[in-house]
Amino acid sequence: MFNIRHLVITGLIALLFQLPIIAGQAGAAEITTKVADGIYAYSPGDGYISMFVVTSDGVVAVEPVNTKHAEGMLKAIKAITDKPVRYLLHTHNHWDHSGGGKVFRNVGAKILAHEEAYAWMKANPHRDMVLPDEAWNGKRKDIKLGDTTIEMHYIGMSHGLGMTVIRVLPQKVVYIADVVTPKRVLFTIVPDFNIKEMVRALTDIEKMEFSRAIFSHTQADSVIGSKADVIEAREFIQDLQRAIVAEFKKGTNFGKIPQVVKLPKYKAWAMYKEWLPMNTWRVMLDMYMGPFPWRPARNFEK
Ligand SMILES: [Zn+2]
Repeated sequence: MFNIRHLVITGLIALLFQLPIIAGQAGAAEITTKVADGIYAYSPGDGYISMFVVTSDGVVAVEPVNTKHAEGMLKAIKAITDKPVRYLLHTHNHWDHSGGGKVFRNVGAKILAHEEAYAWMKANPHRDMVLPDEAWNGKRKDIKLGDTTIEMHYIGMSHGLGMTVIRVLPQKVVYIADVVTPKRVLFTIVPDFNIKEMVRALTDIEKMEFSRAIFSHTQADSVIGSKADVIEAREFIQDLQRAIVAEFKKGTNFGKIPQVVKLPKYKAWAMYKEWLPMNTWRVMLDMYMGPFPWRPARNFEK
């Protein structure tokens, strides 16, 4: 029988996987980029970028995305090293980042996610997502493999649940998912972002010591980013907030504000014309209604 619920869910999932293409984020070709000694950015050209770290004692993969993406990443790893993949790390809960874990489980990797992300993943199964082997808690967890340290920093409310920034030492490279997309305005309606906490989280990331950054999505010419990208992402939000406040003060009709707010400084950024009005709606509502989504702070949050 025709099952409308199934049809809607399947349609939504299909749309979800097409979004990077709609967003014009998709690179043309599969590419592995060496970012630092032993650190690689991988993308099959689907608009999603993962990271893998080759140490003297095995490999750590970050962000499987989905089965196809994860299979491509595993191939890219094997082209560089024979060492086993010891860990797969998730940055947050969302289906469009946390699928494909089974590919790495099948080769013996241990899958880790922050407990907040784990709880959501357990409550919201997806056909392409497996439950991690370990839910870590608190603000920080480190893995030492050979001479390399992989630090997992939980950055609190910002986007999604369990949002984790990964820093690799001694190379001082960070991996950041979704909270920063260089040279692009905020994503569509800014889904599952707490704007106030985003600004706080980005400020916290700016305080971390790192020399290079890999972002899950980018519109910059290079996949190798830097702290300047994090600063720009925060400034964009604050410039948008200031522009909205200016319209409030002028007494501009609420419904008209998203049509009149312009930020010429960012007009060369990807999706400026298409998404700025949606960004404005969302940031304005966050200012008007109060920050959302919000949850009571756990002992590991500020
Ligand atoms: Zn996300």
